[in-house]
Parts: sequence; C-alpha cells; structure tokens
Amino acid sequence: MKRPSRDHDTYAMARERMVEEQLARRGIADPKVLMAMRFIPRHFFTEESFWGKAYGDHPLPIGQGQTISQPFMVALMTQALKVEENDRVLEIGTGSGYQAAILAKMAKKVFTIERHAVLAKRAREVFDRLNIHNIAIRIGDGTIGWSEFAPYSGIVVTAGSPDVPQPLLNQLSEDGGRLVIPVGERGFQRLKVITRTGDRWQTTEDVGCTFVPLVGKHGWAEGEK
Ligand code: SAM
Repeated sequence: MKRPSRDHDTYAMARERMVEEQLARRGIADPKVLMAMRFIPRHFFTEESFWGKAYGDHPLPIGQGQTISQPFMVALMTQALKVEENDRVLEIGTGSGYQAAILAKMAKKVFTIERHAVLAKRAREVFDRLNIHNIAIRIGDGTIGWSEFAPYSGIVVTAGSPDVPQPLLNQLSEDGGRLVIPVGERGFQRLKVITRTGDRWQTTEDVGCTFVPLVGKHGWAEGEK
C-alpha cells in the first residue's frame, strides 16, 4: 500500500480545494466557517493511514465504530450555529475532535462531551499537538448536557437522536441560543435548528442526513434498533 504523504503542504493544498469545491461552491458562505476550515488540519484528526483521504467528500472511520463527519456536514452545522467570538459553545459527540477544533477557532470557549474515553483521550492529544487551549472535554453522556457551564450560545449534537433532549433545550441561552441536532430514525435524520428566545423555542428543518446514533439517557438505548 502506498504510504500517505508526510509533506504538510500537500494537505494545505487539499484543504484549500476542499473549501472551494465542497463548501463554498455548495453554498457555505459564512467567511468565519470557511476561514476555520481552511486553517484546521483535518488530517491530524484521522489515523495516519487515512491522511490521503482526509480531505475527501465523505466521513471516515475513527475507531469504536464511530466516524469523523463529512466536511460539508461539519461546515453546514457550524454555519447554522452562527458562532460569535465571545460565545460559549457545547458539542455533544467529540469523536475525533475535528468539529470542536473548528468551533474553537471561532468561539471563546468550547465544551465537548464524548462517551468513549479512548476517543476523548485521542482528541485531547490532537488539541495539545495543535496548541488549541480553549476546549474542555468531558467523558460521559452528552444527552444530559453540561449544566455547570450553561447557558450556551450554541449547542451542536454530532450524532443522530430519536428526539430533542430536553436538558439541551434548557441549557441554551435565552437570548437566541441555537441548538443544531440531527433528529429521526437510526439510519436517516433531518437536521433541526432550534432557536430559544426566553421560554420559546422555534424550530426550522434543514437537510436530510445520516449520523451514527446518539446513545444515552435522552437518546437511543445501547443496542436499540
Ligand atoms: N464531531 C465528531 C468529529 O468531528 O469527529 C464526529 C462525531 S461522530 C459522528 C459522533 C460521536 O458521538 C461519536 O464519537 C460517539 O461516540 C458520540 N456519542 C454518541 N452518543 C453520545 C452521547 N450520549 N454523549 C457523548 N457522545 C456521544
């Protein structure tokens, strides 16, 4: 098998192409999202054997039966959050850490929760390697949120849920906090964007998508079909 290139300029060019062809050309217009995705080296969040595929238009396996999401989906969810530089953002489903790193480039502080300790540990190592210091990781069930640091200006769930977990709605800031979450069957969901104003939550629906299941108290039960 051909070894992946270790020349990081090769990946900078692939990244630029990814942003142009997969994101900008398909309607991702927020300059902060495009900047962050140009900046963060996605290949570091995959096994070295996948580096050659890291900028392709698809998800990739990261171990534990989980995936790093397709670049377009990361961009779409990030854009829907409308992140501002002083925001505190919560992510459910750290996975590789890539989405959290994108958010960390745009927000003041990112909190991220992962149920698999081995993935959380690996993500922490990549953040350290890239000198990203504004991300806190917790190992556990993200469907109950992280109430100590609530409210959040944005919450993004990067796994598919049968319903919208109530604790996440409660942990949104009252002045326009946004929850972005794929909701639906195990094999197919729709991306929902829910905005809180006081005690009102307004929902809009975006594209269809397929995420690995959100497993937890307010998600799918382990092994549930
Ligand atoms: N955001 C990730 C990235 O950038 O690589 C992609 C995440 S992957 C599609 C979904 C992740 O959600 C998996 O790592 C999975 O273990 C995690 N997950 C599923 N249910 C969870 C829960 N209740 N709490 C925290 N993490 C969960």
